[in-house]
Amino acid sequence: MEDPRKLRYHIQHDNVSHHPLGAGSYIFKDKLIEHINLHCPKSRIVLHIGAQPNSSPHMGTIISFTVAFFLASKLQKDHGRSVLISLDLVDTAPSEQLTINGVQYQRSQRFTREMDKYVKDFLEIMESLKTRTGVEYRTRTQAQFLADPNIPTAIRQIIRDREVLGRSLSPKTGKLAIRAACPHTDCGLADKGGVGTVYSFSDDESTIEFQCPSHGTYKLDLADPQHIQKLEFNTPLRNLLRAKVFARDPDASWIRVTGADYAGYFQEQLLWRHIAPEEALVIFYAPLIVDWSGAKLSKSLYVRSGAYQYLKDMDMDYLLSYRSFKEQGKDLEVIFEEVRHWVEHPYSLFRSYSVAYIDSLFKGDRPVQGQIGKT
Ligand SMILES: [Zn+2]
Repeated sequence: MEDPRKLRYHIQHDNVSHHPLGAGSYIFKDKLIEHINLHCPKSRIVLHIGAQPNSSPHMGTIISFTVAFFLASKLQKDHGRSVLISLDLVDTAPSEQLTINGVQYQRSQRFTREMDKYVKDFLEIMESLKTRTGVEYRTRTQAQFLADPNIPTAIRQIIRDREVLGRSLSPKTGKLAIRAACPHTDCGLADKGGVGTVYSFSDDESTIEFQCPSHGTYKLDLADPQHIQKLEFNTPLRNLLRAKVFARDPDASWIRVTGADYAGYFQEQLLWRHIAPEEALVIFYAPLIVDWSGAKLSKSLYVRSGAYQYLKDMDMDYLLSYRSFKEQGKDLEVIFEEVRHWVEHPYSLFRSYSVAYIDSLFKGDRPVQGQIGKT
């Protein structure tokens, strides 16, 4: 039988990239920044980006970060706004995962320190973006995020609502995925889905009891800020918690910039459904970088080994990791200039870009910009 994975020829195309207008690109085609500015009434604007530092950043992450910096730069230059980029390093993301007696456990990045290998790549990109755009940034670990004064109230609210939120945010288990690493120095296991977690909430108590398969139970007290900083959340919960906390910042309007894979059903069901109108924030979705088939280009970590062999064979694996990007002598300025153009022409921001489009930029053959809607 013929190998179903044999290499195919590419579609011949005319190198013209059209911009048919629809929905967001129609409404915000030339007045995006004005709209964002209008919805940020507080004295400062913080643009939030996040990353799980479990591999060297790939092109999708670099582009999301770049979109955030150029949006910020335009708010700063055209509207005189005071802006700051805040990068959350999600060091509570899984580094190792295992199943014991049918329960899924993880050891986080901050426990294994696997992330130390990759964080400098993220910071190098952030520094280049700061130099290019003149926008300042700061980075935060999850413990630093959890030190926010609005966190204890928001966590209590979420835990009180655990019946409804558990079913919605973790349909498989029905439980809130709040976890904490076992305090034993060599252990660090955490019940990933929070399935064995017990909450004790009354007028004078707010504790969470966790289970380690080797060391038994351990408790955290929500009245103790040090304990709160040990908590870990899955992505939908962290998403909800951020919205609740950002809305309560008295000085800054927060904008989240994230990949377009979070737009649509995910956000509608897991965020908007569960927040009050005053907790709504601006979320801007950066264009996705997609493979030949239209699927999100993933970090190699999340796809089977060898999955992108065809990109490697064409020396396009610089799209998969910043480390390869640097080894191949690629220049971040190519991406910065492209994204700067998207932000100047906002209809360009409401679509995906294929690996072929991005690669053509690096070959000095930028696609011809075709029609913008009906002309
Ligand atoms: Zn343990």
